[in-house]
Amino acid sequence: MKRIVIIGAGPAGLTAAYELLNRSSEYSVTILEETSFIGGLSRSVKCSSCIMDPGGHRFFTGIDRIGKLWTELIPVSDDTGKNDDILMKRKRYSSIYFKDRFFDYPISAGIFRQLKGLNAPKAAMGYIRSAIFPRKENNLEDLFINRFGSPVYEMFFKTYTEKHWGRSPRDISADWGYQRIRALKLSSVIGNIFKSSEKAAPDEFYYPKYGPGQLWERTAELIKSKGADILSEHKVRRICTENGRISAVICTDKNGYEITVKGDIFLSSMPLKELSLGIDSAPKDIKRIAEGLSFRDHIIVGVLAVRPEKFPSDCWIYIHDNSLKVSRVQIYNNWSPYLLKDPDKYIWLGAEYFCQENDSLWKKSDNELAEIAAKELSQIGLIPSEKSVIHTHTERIKKAYPAYFDSYSEIDTIKKYMDSFGNLYCIGRNGQHRYNNMDHSMMTALVAVDNILSGKTDKADIWNVNTEDIYNEAQN
Ligand SMILES: Cc1cc2nc3c(=O)[nH]c(=O)nc-3n(C[C@H](O)[C@H](O)[C@H](O)COP(=O)(O)OP(=O)(O)OC[C@H]3O[C@@H](n4cnc5c(N)ncnc54)[C@H](O)[C@@H]3O)c2cc1C
Repeated sequence: MKRIVIIGAGPAGLTAAYELLNRSSEYSVTILEETSFIGGLSRSVKCSSCIMDPGGHRFFTGIDRIGKLWTELIPVSDDTGKNDDILMKRKRYSSIYFKDRFFDYPISAGIFRQLKGLNAPKAAMGYIRSAIFPRKENNLEDLFINRFGSPVYEMFFKTYTEKHWGRSPRDISADWGYQRIRALKLSSVIGNIFKSSEKAAPDEFYYPKYGPGQLWERTAELIKSKGADILSEHKVRRICTENGRISAVICTDKNGYEITVKGDIFLSSMPLKELSLGIDSAPKDIKRIAEGLSFRDHIIVGVLAVRPEKFPSDCWIYIHDNSLKVSRVQIYNNWSPYLLKDPDKYIWLGAEYFCQENDSLWKKSDNELAEIAAKELSQIGLIPSEKSVIHTHTERIKKAYPAYFDSYSEIDTIKKYMDSFGNLYCIGRNGQHRYNNMDHSMMTALVAVDNILSGKTDKADIWNVNTEDIYNEAQN
């Protein structure tokens, strides 16, 4: 029996194990997971009487194979009262909060009419100008201006992108935008300006009754029942190579003991940066590029408060206002009312802050962050007052967003180097340093397993999962 070692028990690692064990009995699977939980960035955090989703994880995909897999792992049902292990169908509503007002998101032509006064014609003219004279798309700013026109970019995208990444959109590769921004056609936008219907029909998405982690905990149970070992609190620190192959990884357990885990095949969803730095024999240039790969970190403050009189219909709201530190607010009641007790009495929110590990926000105490969140949520009108807060819970998430700047432009050199190890497969989001959602993270795992089982040695199709497939998802 061949031993497969998988690094990380997030969506990518668990999907790889599930697929392998379902399709073949020739492999034993060991998963090494740094933390004590299952699901990685897509876990469910249980706190007090509530469940927190650290991102607001929409199960939404254009890939049939992934949709089928989700519903195979947990069935879809409308009978939410009786059944616990279910995926619910939810409607996506989201807005932008800007200058004390709420605007529809995804941005549709209706926005031109939502903009009162002089702004509306200015926005429409800017859009038309960009459509007729598009810029060469050298960076994210060019891409936004081509899609939305300068005025809408300045009003809605510039500030939010700066908050999200801590950089000017001019310094960010357009690659990120290609993945995230739904294309708008000039003809439909101009046509819509004169139509009466404003709001686009909402997308539907799946959501597990108890948050995203429910699906991953279920997957972990299934793979364990098929013989997989999941070793939690085992952080992979070093990677041993021998004759152009990976021979073992060295991890530390929760007591700090070093353990060497040998294997025949390795699938890694740990950050590509750390993987590269963990290979002692890696050339200097690889280490230099790896050192330069950047991330944006994330803080989310869960706030349970008395239900406001006017309850929002949104699942989440983007906060573009520069005067507020909060960048996005999740309204968990609208994701699943089972994420809290008494949803008729309370509102359960997630106030999201994009930051850098160890910056001044990151270093604030949980109490300080809770105070900021309560103040800002009350200012936006999402909770009745700061005093209406009943409970808060803070999560600090490192490496939430792999960034498309700094040494990102040289990433192909790292990919090539990793592919030189015949028995190593880089999968997932940080595993590929790619802004992959769950579906694409899972898809990299599925393609890697396809290749392992078929004996295919070229790994380009694993790296290409979210590049070739034009999947224009709306901005998160
Ligand atoms: C704020 C936010 C919102 C999001 N919203 C959505 C959404 O709406 N829909 C959607 O589909 N996706 C969403 N995503 C993306 C989704 O979270 C990821 O695509 C998905 O979790 C990636 O899966 P993964 O297994 O590749 O990585 P991860 O989830 O990061 O899992 C990797 C695992 O590896 C472990 N690990 C890391 N290093 C080591 C090591 N050295 N040794 C051992 N273990 C290690 C980690 O602890 C983790 O458990 C969102 C992400 C964020 C941050």
